[in-house]
Amino acid sequence: MSISYQPVIGLEIHAQLQTNSKIFASDPVLFGQEANTLISPISLGHPGTLPKLNKKVVEYAIKMGLSIGSTIAPKQYFDRKNYFYPDLPKGYQITQDKEPICIGGKVPFFLEDGSELEVQLNRIHLEEDAGKLIHAPGKEASWVDFNRAGTALIEIVTEPCIRSSEEAVAFLAEIRKLVMYLEICDGTMEEGSLRCDANISVRIKGTSEFGTKVEVKNMNSIRNVQRAIEFEINRQIETLEAGGQLSQETRAFDALKGSTISMRSKEAANDYRYFPEPDLPPITVSQAHIAEVAKDMPALPGVLFERYTKEFGLSEYDAYNITDQKGIALYYEALIALTKNYKGAANWLMGDIKSYLNEHGMDIQHFPMAPARIAALIELIDQGKVSSSIASQRIFPAMLSSEKNPLELAEEMN
Ligand code: ADP
Ligand code: MG
Repeated sequence: MSISYQPVIGLEIHAQLQTNSKIFASDPVLFGQEANTLISPISLGHPGTLPKLNKKVVEYAIKMGLSIGSTIAPKQYFDRKNYFYPDLPKGYQITQDKEPICIGGKVPFFLEDGSELEVQLNRIHLEEDAGKLIHAPGKEASWVDFNRAGTALIEIVTEPCIRSSEEAVAFLAEIRKLVMYLEICDGTMEEGSLRCDANISVRIKGTSEFGTKVEVKNMNSIRNVQRAIEFEINRQIETLEAGGQLSQETRAFDALKGSTISMRSKEAANDYRYFPEPDLPPITVSQAHIAEVAKDMPALPGVLFERYTKEFGLSEYDAYNITDQKGIALYYEALIALTKNYKGAANWLMGDIKSYLNEHGMDIQHFPMAPARIAALIELIDQGKVSSSIASQRIFPAMLSSEKNPLELAEEMN
């Protein structure tokens, strides 16, 4: 009889916050600018400079915490994480170690087969990003670009409660959706605004003790996170089956080969010598401040989903697809402010409109028809003036190339 194994996975997700300036300096935060143009003595870590906390960063982290039911710590401080690397001019990263801004919380989400699941969070903390090394092709040289140095990050750390690659990526997609709804991060994994490290171990099914974990880095898409986890689970099981031992290490994912390779072992890992950052005062967050941030929160996908299924009688499938992208949900919200035919509005949005967007590779933000015109079309059908199929086949296409209202167009077409 062969032994059966169970994967144990915990994720660490870094999200770059969409603030105008950096976390401790007024340098602008922009992507794709000429190297070393968005810098200052503070982000370059010159001696004698002092960091000053960007208030917006705290607000964004509180938003994230509130959206997933974390406890917001009333008092926190920053720590220095000391290590040397050429993209880190100060020789330490300012982060939160012992007292993070958000503690606990949980994220409910759906798997592809429709089953519902929950991931427990350990914490969310604030920190600054490092600069970026660019390895000169074909030369034994690297360049360094400090534009990114000091960009604000939140790091979202889960408990080791994820049990498969499917669960991991569905959860990651949910986090991506949340940060985009909250408008605190643009969610692009390709540009590195959202980055995910996966901690993976396997254990014999039925045992409670965790196995030796490996941390995998370097995945720049949700798909690659899934591939990396699957490769790593198999590698670990094969190693154990062959009588080998796993070592606690950090591995990098190679997207071309679809495999992971060792970067450094735990024994050789840095001792970061964390200590409280003496240049920044502790942060205090009052209940009044939290309440103020809460007032400013947009409707979140989970809340909209409940409302659409329970109050409007939409199918879970429709409700999920409408809330999957904030732009689509906003369009639907605008539609149902104008018509009480909730199901009809969902059908138009997920049918003709979605097809049009797909055909034209277009975002809903660029869809040429205002919700009022679609609502007028729905009314025409509900009044029995035109059939759904005529509306879809003749009037909807005509509306795309005319400013006339649907009734006028229907009359013109007889
Ligand atoms: P470290 O001290 O190495 O940073 P932590 O306990 O802080 O480890 O956990 C870091 C991440 O690793 C978390 O996301 C956590 O859920 C995950 N993790 C911890 N132990 C395991 C394990 N045995 N297998 C898989 N993931 C784990
Ligand atoms: Mg840790």
